[in-house]
Amino acid sequence: FAERKNSFGPNIEIASDWGPFKAKIDAFMTQDTQWRAYPLVGGEKVETGQTHTVTSPYDHSETAGQIDWADAATVTKAIDLAEAAYPAWSSRPASERADCLDKTADLMEENYAELIALCHREAGKTIQDSIDEVREAVDFCRYYAQQARTNFAAPHTFTNYLGQEQSVQMTGRGVFTCISPWNFPLAIFSGQVVAALVVGNTVVAKPAEQTSLIAVRAIEMMHQAGVPTDVLHLLPGDGATVGAPITSDKRIAGLAFTGSTGTAQLINRTLAARGVAPVPVIAETGGQNAMLIDSTSLPEQVVRDAVRSAFASAGQRCSALRVMFVQEDIADRVIPMIKGAMQEQSVGLPYLHSTDVGPVIDKKAQTMLLEHIERMKVEGKLIGETALPAFADKGTYVAPAAFEIASIDQLTDEKFGPILHVVRYKAKDLDKIIDTINNSGFGLTMGVHSRNETTCARIARRARVGNLYINRDQVGAVVGVQPFGGQGLSGTGPKAGGPHYLQRFAIEKQL
Ligand code: NAD
Repeated sequence: FAERKNSFGPNIEIASDWGPFKAKIDAFMTQDTQWRAYPLVGGEKVETGQTHTVTSPYDHSETAGQIDWADAATVTKAIDLAEAAYPAWSSRPASERADCLDKTADLMEENYAELIALCHREAGKTIQDSIDEVREAVDFCRYYAQQARTNFAAPHTFTNYLGQEQSVQMTGRGVFTCISPWNFPLAIFSGQVVAALVVGNTVVAKPAEQTSLIAVRAIEMMHQAGVPTDVLHLLPGDGATVGAPITSDKRIAGLAFTGSTGTAQLINRTLAARGVAPVPVIAETGGQNAMLIDSTSLPEQVVRDAVRSAFASAGQRCSALRVMFVQEDIADRVIPMIKGAMQEQSVGLPYLHSTDVGPVIDKKAQTMLLEHIERMKVEGKLIGETALPAFADKGTYVAPAAFEIASIDQLTDEKFGPILHVVRYKAKDLDKIIDTINNSGFGLTMGVHSRNETTCARIARRARVGNLYINRDQVGAVVGVQPFGGQGLSGTGPKAGGPHYLQRFAIEKQL
């Protein structure tokens, strides 16, 4: 992965020569720039008249643009075209499809300023999160292109002892449905779509209703990069009007979904009710992620990693830390330091350097989180809160909060926002704690802070999670380096950005 290109600046940190890049982004940040978007079917912009205005999460009086949602006729036409386009697209050499992904990556890099501005204005993402978002989308394109060239270009040939030969070739399955969430509106959206495309599927893609403008730009870039317009279609809209029909259609040959566990369960039922052959579902869903901290850990490091894991991106990462288990011998040192670090965080406008934590995505999310905070104030003990800025009422802000609670059993489902729960444990109960975490049914990320290698190994063996992070934060998996995906209620297992992901979108055909 050494050849990864990244033309718009440093990979991880914002460097001191950021000024010229920021100026380009700022050009897209005024109210004069408004995006106008439509469903894209066969390359045509379809005016359905069902027009929705996109407001910015940090200030609802500001708009980013307007988008028409797809209607039933548009959905049917997209699937008709995708079905008809499948034989030709799947017959193209994998290297040609991979070229389209590399060109898409180039276009995303060229258009980084617009994409970062869209991350700010449509999703309320901070500067660092927006840079990371574009970088991850670019990385998915380049990594899957490379994987397709390596694993999908030539058939695998077998010879038996009589000298007979046979070959199998990995190929696309047909029309793939891709449904994505708002919290990685470019990276997850593009990652699913290009993975499905590069192995030879045609695609109908539905972005989250909150963040469709950036998805439209991504699809336009994929078309510009050479993906035929009858192969890839974009259907903006909500779960009921677009998500349901692109799941219940009998012609769907596979489905990639990232979002909440409840929606994944609903989609599974809808697919099964079609009464046709079962199809693969790649589901990446929610978590109830824990961090285990024993008495050998370094408190300063624990606090830095826990605060980043719980509150970066306003806690709106599937990998984010929700429940921190602290061994009681060290708890009275760590907990006040968490409180102190929270007071140092700055909640603010996402496009300013000074901001650590931006808004949450919308009113529905804000209401749910505020209700949970009120419940925790009664059922737990408030450790600390981060102050909100004076203008917070203009958007959907939630003050980051931490609570001490008695047990993880007080938490039933994922609370997708900046709320940290802390539970004390006794050293002798470590195995029991891990079992309780396993018994929640979720299995996405886990963090461990310990200087004791035996303890780390013991936790790694016992925990049932997709991604385990030792003595570091537990967010920000890197494509091609930390393949990402959970198990149980957290997903069906495939790891995005890993070497076996593309195979899940394909079928082996005997030649
Ligand atoms: P969500 O489940 O509400 O929505 C996800 C997508 O499903 C949206 O596009 C939505 O319109 C669509 N949808 C809703 N109802 C549908 C239906 N009946 N049929 C078909 N599609 C339907 O999730 P969200 O709020 O957008 O995203 C946050 C969730 O995503 C969190 O639970 C988070 O943990 C999870 N997530 C998981 C990962 C991962 O890799 N495991 C990554 C990011 C987010």
